[in-house]
Parts: sequence; C-alpha cells; structure tokens
Amino acid sequence: METKAEGSSRVRNSPIWRNIWQLHIPNAEKHFLWRACHDILPTRVNMCSCKVIMDPSCPICMREFETVFHTLWQCPSASDVVEAMFSKHDRLEFLQFVGIARRIWLRRNEVIHGRSFLNPNRIVQQATQAMEVFQTLMDRRKITAAPAEQPTVHTWMASPHGWFKANWDARVDRRKGCVGFGIVIRDHLGQMWASKCQTCHGFLDPPAAEAVASFMVAQLCTEMGIRQVQLEGDAKNLIDAITSNDADESGWGQLTKDIRFTLRSIPVWEMRYTRREGNRVAHILARLAMHETMNTVCLYNPPDCIRDILQAEISVL
Ligand SMILES: [Zn+2]
Repeated sequence: METKAEGSSRVRNSPIWRNIWQLHIPNAEKHFLWRACHDILPTRVNMCSCKVIMDPSCPICMREFETVFHTLWQCPSASDVVEAMFSKHDRLEFLQFVGIARRIWLRRNEVIHGRSFLNPNRIVQQATQAMEVFQTLMDRRKITAAPAEQPTVHTWMASPHGWFKANWDARVDRRKGCVGFGIVIRDHLGQMWASKCQTCHGFLDPPAAEAVASFMVAQLCTEMGIRQVQLEGDAKNLIDAITSNDADESGWGQLTKDIRFTLRSIPVWEMRYTRREGNRVAHILARLAMHETMNTVCLYNPPDCIRDILQAEISVL
C-alpha cells in the first residue's frame, strides 16, 4: 500500500506539479490549476465516471457534457467572463487566466448550489484585485524576509493533494434514547463532496456509536468510488483498535473487523485521530442528527448548518 508520504512526494515531484509550484500565483490557484491539469475537478463527467451521478450534462447550459475544458472555456458561463476580461485588457496573460478560471469554477459551484450568477465584470475585478494583493504581499515579503507563519495545529487540515479526507462523529442522547451520526467528505482543497446525517434509535453506547459511524464513513467512501482517503475521527481508542493488528477484545470487536473488511475496497487509506477542534463539521452534523430524526446524504451542496464553517475552514488552508 502506498503511504501518505509516498503519495504526497510522488505528486510534488511530478514535472507538472514542479512547474505549477514555481508560478507566482496564490497557493489556492496553484492547487486549482493542478486539479484542472489532472482532470480531477468534480465536473459532471468526472462524477459520472465515479458513478456518483448518471447525467454528465453541463448544469449551467445543459447543451454539452461538462468536462473541465467545457466548464472553463467553452460554456457560455465561462466565455462571458473571458469577454469581460478582453474588454478591460488588451490580452489575457496565462497567470491572469488561472485566477479567472478558478473564479469561473467557484461561480459554477455557487450557481448549482442555488446562488445567483455573479456578474462577469465582477469576476474579472475580483481576480485582478486578488493578483494585485498577492503581488504586493510578495514584494513586502521580499523586503522583510519574514518567516512563513505555521498553520494553527488544532484545526481541520486538508488532505494531501489528490487525497480525500473523511471525518466522522457520533453523538449519543441518553434522554431521548438515540444516536446522531455525522460524516463529511472533502477533497484536498476543502470542497465538500458528500455529507451524511443519520439518526439511530435505541443505541446508547458511545464507543459502539463511534464504531458504527466509522463503518458508515468507510461504506460511503466505497460507494463513492474514492480511492485515496484519510479517515479522521475523535475516538482515539477505536482508531487504535482498527489500525492495530491485534484482536480487538472490546465490546465492538466484530464491528472493528467489519470496518477493516470494508476498508479493503479502498486502495489507499489511512485512519487517524484528530481532536474535537479538527472534527467540527462532522460534530455539527452528528448533533443535528441527534436533535432531529433524519437520514440524509448531500452530494456537493452542503446543508446550510455547515456551509459557513466549511468556508471558514477552506479560508485558512
Ligand atoms: Zn455549459
């Protein structure tokens, strides 16, 4: 099995990645460009190939299959932005286009999630301003030569490039006699691919509830055809039991075996413990399922209760 370190270094040593990494553009745009070059943006065509959905049509124009090329260039929702760009500048520089393309993609996501279309001139303005701010910051960094800030440790961290991260949590309400399960699966840019909220009645043992939740997350990853994933929860004893080779003598021993068996269908995975602060989205979903009886899976379009926190966790990447 390929380890996380091997996977990450293979990506970072690839010629495309090295070239992209040397570009003078913000990291979010490098990551976006890398995903676009490797055709791993969650376009409708790519989601069809993972058998997540059945219809590959562009959700904006409904005229063509939604490939990366269609989304970022051919679709009328992309060409209006490029036209707006040409009306303000004589020519379109490649680095400018990366910023524009990423915003075309973000606008596409907003639209399919029910938000209104952002004006193309506004997109050009945002991309231009972001590039100016980036250049100013780079110039200032050259002058002060300040050391780069380390990210906060006790928070959600995205997976390495090309990996998914799946967080799970379970919350037990003894008074009501029910358990809420929460799952969220995100790609390495923090974009949500799936979330799940499920209520289960008459099941009150917290360690067993965590074990059931981890079984659900392994199942959901398998159903989505995910091939490389970090599974993360805040139940340390359970994670130690699943990842160790020892026979599990706890009350949920059979479930631990079932989880290991389900995980065999994911080619590359690792399971790790995170503190509660790194598992906030799954925690909110589990709490919601504990308060309201539900069994809901959302694909790509986050439920309202986690939309802000997902955005907040992306913004610190
Ligand atoms: Zn289209």
